[in-house]
Amino acid sequence: MLDVNMSVSEISDWLQTEDQTRLNTLYETADKIRRQRVGDEVWLRGLLEISNYCRRNCLYCGVRAARQTSRYRMTGDEILQRAQLAAEFGYGTVVIQSGEDTSLDAEFIADVVRNIKKRFSLAITLSLGERSENEWIAWKKAGADRYLLRFETSNPILYKALHPQPNDPNYPHRIVQLKRLREIGYEIGGGVMIGLPGQTFDDLANDLAVFRELDLDMIGNGPYLPHPNTPLGNLKRQNGFWRSSALNLAQSGITFSNKGEVDPYFCYPESEQQVPNTNDIAFKVVALTRILCPNANIPSTTAVATLDGASGRKNALERGANVVMPNITPEKYRALYEIYPNKAASHEEADATRRLALKQIAEIGRRVGVGPGASRSFIERASTDRGRSK
Ligand code: SAH
Repeated sequence: MLDVNMSVSEISDWLQTEDQTRLNTLYETADKIRRQRVGDEVWLRGLLEISNYCRRNCLYCGVRAARQTSRYRMTGDEILQRAQLAAEFGYGTVVIQSGEDTSLDAEFIADVVRNIKKRFSLAITLSLGERSENEWIAWKKAGADRYLLRFETSNPILYKALHPQPNDPNYPHRIVQLKRLREIGYEIGGGVMIGLPGQTFDDLANDLAVFRELDLDMIGNGPYLPHPNTPLGNLKRQNGFWRSSALNLAQSGITFSNKGEVDPYFCYPESEQQVPNTNDIAFKVVALTRILCPNANIPSTTAVATLDGASGRKNALERGANVVMPNITPEKYRALYEIYPNKAASHEEADATRRLALKQIAEIGRRVGVGPGASRSFIERASTDRGRSK
């Protein structure tokens, strides 16, 4: 069965299938649902990476705090100039992303949002990590439309292993935070990495069920790409465990209070069910996401384009995706937002990125959406809410 009510074990079976005939059925079904529900438009979102400062130490991420690397933060004027470029390029949305940089304070971001809204006809998506509720509320009031916060994995043990968190047992998981962001009024976007060490097919199937349960407006997933300057990037499979060497620990600047013991962060059980970090799996995830969340906006992500520059993006668009996020970060900063190595378009000007996206969309016979391109589920939810309050 291949429909919106699939069980987690059915989803897991589909994720593991290698049968080409079944895969063709999966991809054709997803493409058909995409056409029926969200049409042939591909929405372009200009992705602007405004700062690579980060206070967190996510084990997979190349801009984690402990890494010695050049840091940058764009000024308000620089951000406005790039928003103007997004508007000139006909992108209906600017996505403002950064590490968790507290120097981008509430007032600075609120000003940026107000100024963009005043000058350009752009939807604004913020992707600034886990911030306080008051900040989220202030930015919504200032005019921000959407918030993107991938929950990375729905498995709480794996999540904890990959995210050294403040010592607070009540620290809310990103899934809880996404619900709060919806209450505040944002269109909400989530997603996961595919093929994280320790992630099983059942974990990934659960992630997909959570997309459905949260009824996410935007769902972006990409393969996990190891970064050599991170603790996770150097893990090895050894005797049934994912392990890191002592050298990696020293390089990452992490020390442990329980010296001598094997830390669970760096010693995670390997499973026969380990998900590979490939585009083949990423395409299955895109297709199944479309089937489970037929009205959502689903990007063909940069990580997919990084693994296969020639056809990765087009393949995802033909298997359920309907959004592309061309990078508009100034060239001098682009390579510094190095969450993983060899990121697609990291040495290219915004205009070249745009031309490639337009060419690829034309090649598969699709058309570029004009306007903000809110998610169909968000629009329907908003009209039901209005109906209720009458
Ligand atoms: N600070 C923001 C933005 C993080 S970057 C936040 O935490 O939400 C955006 C996404 O890139 C992350 O959510 C993660 O899913 C992805 N990412 C980070 N490192 C990665 C890696 N090594 N491989 C693949 N994706 C990665």
